[in-house]
Amino acid sequence: MTDYFLELAKNPWAQKIAAKLPFSVSLPPVLNRKEVPWDDQELAGKTVLFVNIGGASSYVESNLKKSVASLSGKTITELSPDKKIAALVIDLGKAADVQDLANLYQTIHTYIKKIQTSGRLLIHWQKNAKNEAFEASLSAVVKSLGRELGKYGSTANLLLSESNAAGAATQSALIWFLSDRSAFISGQVFYIENHSSTAQQDLAMTALLAGRTAIVTGAARGIGLLIARQFRREGAHVIGIDHPSQSDSLKSEMDAIGADVFLQDLADTNAVSNIKNLIHNGPGQIDIMIHNAGITKDRTIANMQASDWERVMQVNYTFPSKMTMELLKPGSAIIPLIKEGGRIVNISSIVGIAGNFGQSNYAAAKGALIGHTKDMHKQKYGANINAIACGFIETKMTEKIPPVMREIARRMNALKQGGLPADVAETVLFLSSSLGSGISGQTFRVCGLHPAGA
Ligand code: NAD
Repeated sequence: MTDYFLELAKNPWAQKIAAKLPFSVSLPPVLNRKEVPWDDQELAGKTVLFVNIGGASSYVESNLKKSVASLSGKTITELSPDKKIAALVIDLGKAADVQDLANLYQTIHTYIKKIQTSGRLLIHWQKNAKNEAFEASLSAVVKSLGRELGKYGSTANLLLSESNAAGAATQSALIWFLSDRSAFISGQVFYIENHSSTAQQDLAMTALLAGRTAIVTGAARGIGLLIARQFRREGAHVIGIDHPSQSDSLKSEMDAIGADVFLQDLADTNAVSNIKNLIHNGPGQIDIMIHNAGITKDRTIANMQASDWERVMQVNYTFPSKMTMELLKPGSAIIPLIKEGGRIVNISSIVGIAGNFGQSNYAAAKGALIGHTKDMHKQKYGANINAIACGFIETKMTEKIPPVMREIARRMNALKQGGLPADVAETVLFLSSSLGSGISGQTFRVCGLHPAGA
């Protein structure tokens, strides 16, 4: 669905006219995005200002300089007054007290106006488990800064790493956040753990998913189609699944990208066993499972039929959770259907966090999916499992929203626009590749810092 305000914002003439009007018209900022394959030019033209206010020499600093340079970007530690920067990265190291927060204020106060449009503010802190006050404070600060930066199309996020051992994983995550692929994520806190066996040590950034086999549900259109396309772009073997009613579009879209097709109604009671057979009779094991298919059947609970509740639960929660259990096969001697070091990503919604009028069924299912992600992570299986909570994303699902409501929903977040399926797909790719190896059990909000539940 076209966002006419955003189209105007992209047009230099319209911008000039808007600037001359006697009343103020604020057009949404144009975000820089990148959808071409990853390569060693990923950060070309970007200057990153690195400020260490954590004291002791930081593992982030040396790694960051090296990896930014290897992707054709530049890291500086001092900024001349006439220069702008693509990103400000602040390393708090093991900082822990109120004076460190004052230093943080001073640094951001000095440089925030130097960040270019669609830029990044990233704060890294080596989390001290005993210091909840510091963590809560930083979390609230990035949400505030994300809201201040939103009108410039820029974002603010906080990365917490557990120890020096998480160095490689932290480096990979920082690179992804610095890239144009994270344009719609703001005001969030992410925890980086040490999964160094699979971390991207050498930053060879081509064909991120070469040799991996991935299943993507709901691949006929919208977010699922973009995930399938971007996975193929990065060299994965993709099996796209969708409802039999979508047979024609699934086949033509998957043919166009060289992916395999499997038709299955995920609400059927035999859906899990059919997909297990698909894996057994095909690749034997898979590397990546993306639970993307989802539906809404919105009604106030007084008007909602039991069948509306059940179908929404079945597609959005029951199938993905049962399938995941089968893939991981907890407590069994059978070789799991997903490989050691594999990835599972559950596509949820901010409605699963904040709830929404007329969506109690969808909220129940998407909330359960987020909880299931955490439960599965705590069991320490061999695969990383994460959820994505989408905000307003421009797809057929949001096209169904009445026009006025849709326009309001689109403008509510800090970036004043809807996200694109590619924003979600690039995040799924990050979590599914070695770049995201340090991240598991978390919920990534891809919502432009939507206020609901944030
Ligand atoms: P979409 O409606 O464009 O696509 C959903 C896909 O899932 C379709 O191809 C559909 O055929 C498939 N599907 C639905 N029921 C199925 C079934 N029973 N069996 C097999 N396939 C089935 O939606 P989208 O916007 O691309 O949404 C993708 C995911 O993102 C969903 O889980 C949705 O809940 C979630 N999400 C989307 C938004 C948004 O703003 N678009 C916001 C929050 C969450």
